Amino acid sequence: MNNIKWISGLILLIGLMGFGIPTKPQYAIAIHGGAGVILKANLSAGMEKAYRHMLDSALTVGEKVLASGGSSMDAVEKVIRIMEDCPLFNAGKGAVYSHDGYNDLDAAVMDGSNLMAGAVAGVRNVKNPITLARRVMTNSPHVMLSGKGATEFAREQGLEIVDSSYFFTERRWKDLQNAIAREKENKFGTVGCVAMDKAGNLAAGTSTGGMTNKKWNRIGDTPIIGAGTYASNKSCAVSGTGHGEFFIRYTVAREIAALMEYKGMSVQKAAEEVIINRLKPAGGEGGIIAVDKDGNIALVFNSPGMYRGAADSNGRHEIAIFGDK
Ligand code: ASP
Repeated sequence: MNNIKWISGLILLIGLMGFGIPTKPQYAIAIHGGAGVILKANLSAGMEKAYRHMLDSALTVGEKVLASGGSSMDAVEKVIRIMEDCPLFNAGKGAVYSHDGYNDLDAAVMDGSNLMAGAVAGVRNVKNPITLARRVMTNSPHVMLSGKGATEFAREQGLEIVDSSYFFTERRWKDLQNAIAREKENKFGTVGCVAMDKAGNLAAGTSTGGMTNKKWNRIGDTPIIGAGTYASNKSCAVSGTGHGEFFIRYTVAREIAALMEYKGMSVQKAAEEVIINRLKPAGGEGGIIAVDKDGNIALVFNSPGMYRGAADSNGRHEIAIFGDK
């Protein structure tokens, strides 16, 4: 009896593949390295190569975690740590500077299987804020910690504490001087990861330095659950990047999940509804990556480009930067 079931299952699978009907992947993962005015004309060949290489290696590490049966949360944390350690991205080493010349880091994670979440805001001395966000979720009774208190908690948890000079990069320092000269706030290069593991659990994580030249301890959407980061096994896992104030006011990540839950939209349609139909006309530049409970991935942005990557157990593995690829 069991053999018959097994054989008919196999025949069905081969049939579906033969007709080109996509089969649900065992796992799926997507990453982003920020959205904004990313144009081929403004990116040197060397920089483009470096970004593609880093996105590809981070994505590959995440795939390996999931392929070997690891949890979506482990994949999200591991991938984001790699991107935080890389000076190309606006998170961890490579974070942008606030107006006062500090790197104020924000990060969040959410576990779609139980709706647990952890976030940190305005952290200055923690090497990997994404790991601290996860510890807030698992080892504290709270959802969000900020500033000195968050660093104190990181110390208690035995996480790596670094001198603020660790976050110095020439490029971001110059960006600050330019932004001050133009009296503007700029954004770029936040990192994020969403994943579905073999057990069908979803997880999301996002990490950022926020916006260059930000003032008054401004906090963006990244650490706000439902704005820049959200996950629920009922719908999808989302990580956003872009003009944080808009993501907060439009509760972007939760809105996408709600459209799926209450309106039965696909993850792609729900993301387009929020990012293209609502956010864009309002002037909110940015994008999201999302994965649903069936492993479908959406990479949607209303800016000229978004550093991004997607992979699943059906053999998908792609990296892209600009609007077309
Ligand atoms: N969303 C981030 C913020 O507003 C910035 C970014 O994604 O580039 O803090």
